[in-house]
Amino acid sequence: MNRPYESKVVIMQPSEESSALYWIFHSTYKFIYRVYLSFYMTLKDVYNKLLEKYGYQNWWPVHEGQNSIVEISFGAVLTQNTSWKNVEKALENLIKHNMLDFEKVYCSDIEFLKELIRPAGFYNQKAKTLKAVSKLFLEKPHKDIAREDLLSIKGVGKETADSILLYALNKPYFVIDAYTKRFLSRLGLVSDKIDYDSSQSFITQNIEMDLEVYKEFHALIVKHCKELCTKKPKCEICFFKCERLS
Ligand code: SF4
Repeated sequence: MNRPYESKVVIMQPSEESSALYWIFHSTYKFIYRVYLSFYMTLKDVYNKLLEKYGYQNWWPVHEGQNSIVEISFGAVLTQNTSWKNVEKALENLIKHNMLDFEKVYCSDIEFLKELIRPAGFYNQKAKTLKAVSKLFLEKPHKDIAREDLLSIKGVGKETADSILLYALNKPYFVIDAYTKRFLSRLGLVSDKIDYDSSQSFITQNIEMDLEVYKEFHALIVKHCKELCTKKPKCEICFFKCERLS
């Protein structure tokens, strides 16, 4: 059986947009729909719909035979302000020179390190950040590394810290990024002006604390935002249909 909002969305015709009657109907319906989403469509529903459509993403992607904690931690730093394709090039350079290693990066010549990670951009700062992250991992037992430790490193923001905590250290911190905010706000679940901490609280208060769900949910949101909920969303072929109400 269709959900109520799914069947109602279909009856709106573009040809009606110019009439005042349509405008009243549209605004009223939009309001009701937002209320409906807020109260009846749970985050778990959203997660299940994404999982059903895309399947398990098994994040974080790592190269076979490499130390996943090192690779995820470095990848989380390198991915800032660049595409994953560029991160891959930097990671491949590190692998080629046997540098996917906290100790080797910490002790390395910084100019050499910059050259290796150059494809990921902002390599002057990222090289320093990789060294600082390596130092932390060398000095502290992994289980004792806290969010505050990571956030005290220059070049590590909340998204990077939470990515390392969740995917490298298996600690339940939900990762928020631009995709997450865009998607949740288009669903009408949060404001598009929401900040990092409020987005994170909204998710953690509305979904069970489960490491695997946290990992998958974030990965599924990224997948959905790359496939359908892009900057110019492909709502016609999307199974959520929310943007038709904007
Ligand atoms: S693509 Fe459109 S319908 Fe799908 S989630 Fe994004 S805004 Fe909503």
